[in-house]
Amino acid sequence: MRTYRSETIPIPRNQNLTELLHASIDPSLPDSHLVAKDSLTNRSVTIGELRTRVGRIAKGLESCLNPPDQARWALILPNSVEYLEIFHSILWTGGVVCPINHALKSSEIGHGLAVSRPLYVIAYGKAITIVKQAISLAQVELKGIGVSWANPTVFSMISSVPGLKHIPTDFWAESSLSIPHWEDTSTRLASIHLSSGTTGKPKGVELTHYNFVSNCYQLIHHGRDQFNAKSTTVAFTPWAHIAMTTMPLFLGPFTGMLHHAMPSYSTEDFARLVESNRATSFQGVPSVVLTLANTDVTSRYDFSHARMINVGGAPLRKALIEKLTKRAPWRLIQVYGMTEASGYVAYQKFSEILPDGVIGHLLPNIEACLKKEGTSDDAEEGGPGELWLRGPNITRGYAFNSNATENAFPIEGWYNTGDVCIIDKEGRISVVGRSKELIKYQGFQVSPAELEAFLNAHPNVVEGGVGATWDESRLTELPTAWVVLKDKFKSDQEILRALKEVHVTIDGQVTGYKKLRGGVWHIPALPKNPTGKILRKQMVLMRGGLCSIK
Ligand code: AMP
Repeated sequence: MRTYRSETIPIPRNQNLTELLHASIDPSLPDSHLVAKDSLTNRSVTIGELRTRVGRIAKGLESCLNPPDQARWALILPNSVEYLEIFHSILWTGGVVCPINHALKSSEIGHGLAVSRPLYVIAYGKAITIVKQAISLAQVELKGIGVSWANPTVFSMISSVPGLKHIPTDFWAESSLSIPHWEDTSTRLASIHLSSGTTGKPKGVELTHYNFVSNCYQLIHHGRDQFNAKSTTVAFTPWAHIAMTTMPLFLGPFTGMLHHAMPSYSTEDFARLVESNRATSFQGVPSVVLTLANTDVTSRYDFSHARMINVGGAPLRKALIEKLTKRAPWRLIQVYGMTEASGYVAYQKFSEILPDGVIGHLLPNIEACLKKEGTSDDAEEGGPGELWLRGPNITRGYAFNSNATENAFPIEGWYNTGDVCIIDKEGRISVVGRSKELIKYQGFQVSPAELEAFLNAHPNVVEGGVGATWDESRLTELPTAWVVLKDKFKSDQEILRALKEVHVTIDGQVTGYKKLRGGVWHIPALPKNPTGKILRKQMVLMRGGLCSIK
C-alpha cells in the first residue's frame, strides 16, 4: 500500500480531557484568563472559574444521579458558556456526551437519540416540548432529563416524565469531584457525534478521549501561531458540529483562545461581535466568506483585528480568496476534516502559500492512502482516489452499528473517508470530489437517505431520490429531490401541483439546512444499477423536466 504521512509527534495516551482542562497545553495561562463569553447574555468565564464550576457541577450530577461509568448524556443546547460547562462536567463524571443540534425537528432529534441511546438528556428549556416528543418517538429508556440553567444557579430535572428523578435546584456542590485518570484513554469514550458517514442515515460516531486529545496536540503542533491565548474568535457554527467541539470546547480552554459564543448566525450580529470584541480570527464555510466578499459589511464594521479566517467544509477557490484579501489584509486558512477524525485532518499553515484548490498538509501522526473508487487497490500515483486515513484521531467506529463500522473500515484500522482526493509530491491534499452520498449545505451534513425516507412516505410519490446540486452563487451544495409520481398526475399542471405538495411537506418535516433548496424534479424513473441502487451521479444530471422550486 502506498501511504503518505507527515511528521510524528508524541501524544500522551494517559492524559484525558479533564486532566488537560486542568493542566492546559499552555501552562503559563493565569486563572483570570477569559476563555468563553456568551454573546447573548454577556456571561463570561475564566479558565480558573471554568475548572472550579465544572468540578462542582460534576460533583452535583454525581451525587444527585449517581450515573454509571461511561453513561451517555444527550446534550441539546445552543452555543453558550453553559454548553462548555455542561460538556466538561459530563466528561469529568466519566460520562459520554452525545451532542444534538437543538434546532432540529423532533423526528430528527429522535433519530439522534435512537442511534446514541443516552441515559440522560440535558436540553435547552425552550426546546423541551420538541425534545419530549423526540424522546417518545425514539423510545429510549431514560434515567433523567435535565433542563439547562438559563440562570446559572438553577438546574431542574423534569418530574413530569413518569419515574424520573427530580434534581433539586440548589444542587450546586461545595466541592469538586476528584479528577479522573485512566492509563489508556483510547478505551474511554468521550462523545458520540452524529454523522452520515459514507451512506445511509446519520449514525453515532464514537470518539474517545485519546481521539480528541490527539487532535488537539496535532492542531497545536501544526499551528501554534493560530491557537494561543492571544486569539479571540467568534464561534457561530453550532457547537454540536465536530469542528466546533474541538475548537471552543477543547482547544479554547487548553490554549487560552477566547471564544465568543453565538447561538445562531446572522451576518450583522456576527460583524458587530467581530468589531466589538476585536476578534482576531473566525471559522466558517465558503458561503460565509462569500457574504463578506460580496457585501459592504466589512466596510460598515471594523474587521481590522481579524488576522485570519479558517475556511472548511467545501473547497475554497483562489478567485474568492483574492477578492476577499483585497478588502482586508487577512489570511484565509483552508481546513479539511470530518466528524470521524475528531474534527481535523489537514490545515493550512499561517505562513503557507498554496496552489489553487490545495488545502495543505496532513496533520502530524495521520497516515493516508488513495484507493481506486470502491476497491482496495492503490490509485494511480499523482491521480485522484478515495482517501483512506489511519491515525490517533480516527474513530473506532459507529455506536451500536457494527455493519456500518465494517463498511467504513475496509481494512483494519483504515477509515475510508468517501472523499476523492489528490495528494501532490509535497504531500498536500486537494479534495476533488466525493464518492459518498453525503450532501453538505453550508457546512451542515444532510443525509440523502433521511430525506428519501420522507419522500417515499409521501402519498404522491412512487419513489424518490435525493442528491446534491451545486449553487455557484452561494458556493454550496443544495439538497435536491428527484421523484417518480403516481400515475394519476397526468397534465403538467397536475404534476407541478403534486411536486409542490411534496416539496412543502418535506420542507416542513426537516430543519432549515435540510430543506430541498435545489427543488423537486419530476422524472419518469430513477436511474439504478442492476442491484437496485440509485445511480446518484446520473440522477443529479436529470434536470430537464418539470420542477418545483421555491
Ligand atoms: P463533517 O463530518 O460534517 O465535518 O463533514 C465532513 C465532510 O465535509 C468531509 O468528508 C468532506 O466531504 C467535506 N469537507 C470538509 N472540509 C472540506 C474542504 N476543505 N474541502 C472539501 N470538502 C470538505
